[in-house]
Parts: sequence; structure tokens; C-alpha cells
Amino acid sequence: MIDKQKTLKASSSFTGKGLHTGKTVTMTILPAESDNGIIFRRVDIEGQPEVEALADYVVDTSRGTTICKNDAKVYTIEHIMSALWSMGVDNALIEINGPEVPIMDGSAREYATRIMEVGLQEQEQDRHYYELKEKVSFSIPEKGVSIDIEPADEFTVSVEVDYNSRVLGVQNSSFVEKGDYKGEIAPCRTFVFLHELEPLLNANLIKGGDLENAIVVVEHEISEEEIARLTALFNKGEVKVTNGYLNHLQLRFSNEIARHKMLDILGDMALLGKRFKGKVTAYRPGHYANTETMKIMRKAQ
Ligand SMILES: [Zn+2]
Repeated sequence: MIDKQKTLKASSSFTGKGLHTGKTVTMTILPAESDNGIIFRRVDIEGQPEVEALADYVVDTSRGTTICKNDAKVYTIEHIMSALWSMGVDNALIEINGPEVPIMDGSAREYATRIMEVGLQEQEQDRHYYELKEKVSFSIPEKGVSIDIEPADEFTVSVEVDYNSRVLGVQNSSFVEKGDYKGEIAPCRTFVFLHELEPLLNANLIKGGDLENAIVVVEHEISEEEIARLTALFNKGEVKVTNGYLNHLQLRFSNEIARHKMLDILGDMALLGKRFKGKVTAYRPGHYANTETMKIMRKAQ
């Protein structure tokens, strides 16, 4: 089967705030030559430094996947990477005039929609596939985190998340290579537990984050006083809790959290820089585990 590399037919721009930095940025995705891979270029910095979207350059995974090479540092690359890679884009140049990819609505829906509208251009070169010779595993047993990647005829991914949450329960999501990424995975939003969000808000670590671009899970009963405090903190009108979620949130899927974890791991696995045929089984995956697994694979190639 001929499997050619692809790029976008035209460029496409997005403007929005970064979730963690709160900075408004414009990001333009341009077509790129075969074998270019996906590269970020900081056009706001003198000399316009570039960083390849590869696991080798991951420097931080605490609240998203951050890559850095020389002066080119870009935060929260996982959602745009997920959309580009899963929609079939192998080569692209991403110009960005700030430090962080826009969070948009917390999902990759807008990215996937635009990639579909712009269309893909098939290129001369065949795609490069990573040769997965044996099973690759990464785990953090004390956190219940594990990722196993076994050689297989197709690329499939299954994700299970269990945070001992009475609101979320145990959730699963699965994805196959020719699956409906745009319809089934891209619309799923990022999420945070309220008890994790509060210290971040207090420490001013979430600036662009508001109630529209993250699902906020409320695990414990909260008092009237706490609600009043949150209302002031969010500055977005009165805060309410409905069925364990902050405000009148309509979930896009009952397992939206697991699907978002799928979105994230697909984006982080794109940092391998090559596609692969393999069966991925992930329990409680996160950016650290995802990118460490890709580092292991890149070193082994
Ligand atoms: Zn995410």
C-alpha cells in the first residue's frame, strides 16, 4: 500500500489565549516540504528560532507538554499536535508569536475542523514508519500509570482512566487508525478537579483558563462560602455545581474525560516523529508518561 506523506493545502491561522500564560497569540500553520516533520517557529523572538515537535525537546510536562530548543520554547503543544497528526498531517511549519498554543475551547475541535476545511496535500515521499520490534513499556506503579506498546498490524490505542472519582467513575476510550478523530476525539475538552484548580488559581498559574475552556470536576461538597469565593475568583458571574460539574456544563460525551486523555496521548505520541503500527494500552496516561515512552522509543530506533 502506498502511504505518502501529507501536508496542508494552504495555511491557516488561529488566535486565542494560552491556558497557562494567559497571553493572546496568533498561530499560523503553513504547509511544509516532505521530511520536514512538524516544526514550531517563534516569530516574536529575534532570529525566529525553531523547535522540532519531537520528544527529545520536551522540557516540562507539569500542566501540558512544553518543548524547548535554544530560545524557542512553546507551551501546551499537545492539542494542535494531536489534531495535525491524527488528521494525517506529517509536515507543517507552525509560526507562533508567543509562548503558548491557544487553548481555544479546551479541545481540538476548531483545529480539526479547520484542517478538514483546508484539506491535505499528498507529497512525493513515502511516510516513515517506526519499526517496533518488541514491546515498549513505561509505568509509574505508585500512581497506577502504565503505557504498553506492542507490535501489531494496525495502530490502535485504548485508554482507561480511574481517578477514584465518584463523579467520573472509570472511563474508557479507544481509537483506531482510520477512526473518526474529528467527530469522536477532537471535541473532547480538557478537565481539572476543583481541588487541583484552586491552588493554581491562587498562585496565578492559570490565567487564560475560565469556565468555558475546561471541564471542572467537583468531587466534594462545597460550602456557600466557598462558592462565593470561587465566584469572585472566576469573575464570570455566579458559580454553581450541577451533578459534580461546575456550572451548567453539558458534557459532549459521557466519557469525555477518557476521550480527552486519548486526544492528549495521540498528540504526545506524535512527538515520536514517525508513525507506527502498534497496539497501545494506557492506564491513567499523562504528559510525563506519554512523552517518556516516546523518548524511550526514539532512543531505541
Ligand atoms: Zn489536553
